[in-house]
Amino acid sequence: MPCKSCFSVNRKKFGAEMGIHFLGLKNIDKPIVWVFPELVVCLDCGAAEFVVPEAELRELVKDDAAAAAG
Ligand SMILES: [Zn+2]
Repeated sequence: MPCKSCFSVNRKKFGAEMGIHFLGLKNIDKPIVWVFPELVVCLDCGAAEFVVPEAELRELVKDDAAAAAG
């Protein structure tokens, strides 16, 4: 699959550790959601792509739903 930004095929896979946190002062107490995705980086323009694993994705959805309700 070519890069979605510059259509280069010069892309490479990496391992990554990523702490996803919610933006905004009201979310300052929300815990960081850690993910360890396989990262695909375009070596020409730097655009990166990864998929949040299902368990961690549920954490993001759950927190978002709680924020909308409260
Ligand atoms: Zn690119």
